[in-house]
Amino acid sequence: MITPLHIVAAIPLKIAAPKQFSLLWFSITNILIDVEVIYYIILLEWPIHRFFHSLIGVSIIGISCFILSIILKQKKLPSFFGCFIGVYSHYVIDGFYHNLWT
Ligand SMILES: [Zn+2]
Repeated sequence: MITPLHIVAAIPLKIAAPKQFSLLWFSITNILIDVEVIYYIILLEWPIHRFFHSLIGVSIIGISCFILSIILKQKKLPSFFGCFIGVYSHYVIDGFYHNLWT
C-alpha cells in the first residue's frame, strides 16, 4: 500500500483517541518502513519489500522510533501507541496487500 494511505487509515484512531495516540510517530514509522521500497524502486531491484517489511524489521523501526521519542521528550504513551500501532499495522496491511507471507 502507498505510504500516505497507511497514514490516512490511522486518522479515525486519532479522532477516537486524540490524547492517547500520536499520529506524528505513526506517520514517521510508516514513512521509514517504506524508505526501503523507494530505495529498491530507484535501484530497480525486485522484490522491493525486504528486511524492513519483516516482523523483525518493523520491530527494529518501532523500538528505534520509540527510543527517539523518549530522547526528544515526547509524551510516552501516545508515542508508544503511535510507534507500535504504526509498525505492526504496516506489517499486517502490506503483508496482505502485497501478499508478502507466501
Ligand atoms: Zn510498506
